[in-house]
Amino acid sequence: MKYIGAHVSASGGVENAPLNAAAIGANAFALFTKNQRQWVSAPLTAKSIEQFKENCRKCGFLPEYILPHDSYLINLGNPDEEAIQKSRAAFLDEMQRCEQLGLTMLNFHPGSHLNKISIEQCLDEIAANINLALSKTSGVAAVIENTAGQGSNVGNKFEEIRYIIDRIDDKSRVGVCIDTCHTYSAGYDLVGDYEGVFAEFERVIGLEYLKGIHLNDTKKPLASRVDRHETLGDGLLGIDFFKKLMKDSRFDNIPIILETPDESRWREEIALLRSLE
Ligand SMILES: [Zn+2]
Ligand SMILES: [Zn+2]
Repeated sequence: MKYIGAHVSASGGVENAPLNAAAIGANAFALFTKNQRQWVSAPLTAKSIEQFKENCRKCGFLPEYILPHDSYLINLGNPDEEAIQKSRAAFLDEMQRCEQLGLTMLNFHPGSHLNKISIEQCLDEIAANINLALSKTSGVAAVIENTAGQGSNVGNKFEEIRYIIDRIDDKSRVGVCIDTCHTYSAGYDLVGDYEGVFAEFERVIGLEYLKGIHLNDTKKPLASRVDRHETLGDGLLGIDFFKKLMKDSRFDNIPIILETPDESRWREEIALLRSLE
């Protein structure tokens, strides 16, 4: 079975996210558990946590189909000593919020080398910081998202993600989220070589690590390394690609999350995906 949703708003409190997801016909969702543009947010209140769990129960959302996303400010590969302290603390806070909410995964972009260190050094730093956060929490897996490779972002090559996973102490608490827009922009031809790309993912990383999909069409060409999401069918991936994915049982039983730009179309996009199953 496919679990499909979108990265919905948690404005007014995390407890609103499951309601927003239910309203668009989703059976999975993503959310920010704090304001993603601020380093520090007020702790979750006991009331908000209880209400979140209650709304998830009421609407039928299980933790394994909820994929929280961390703040865009966090860079676990930051070469600057002062800056990395801030990122470590914020990442730990994000993991702890997931723990409090009874969630089992935290999705994040691996990081950026900022042209100050090598890619390898950056990946080593990221792995060390993931290990640190995992050692201070329990029950929440770190889910690394592949990137488009824009700017100095690492994690656009499957090998780089494998490199990080190889350095994680507890392999049961690390996973991967494939963003279809990022994958194509990074140079993996999901349109011309669908089977080849996923065979490569299986060979380099392994499907057992796949914990979620960000399902986005893309505005930018293959290997452009530019991250610009597009509404399903309006971009360069096209409906045939989404049809293949919806019929592919390798993507059953994991959250498939829309991060497409026009949220007024999410309900329609989910219905479209359902019709392609
Ligand atoms: Zn994404
Ligand atoms: Zn993106």
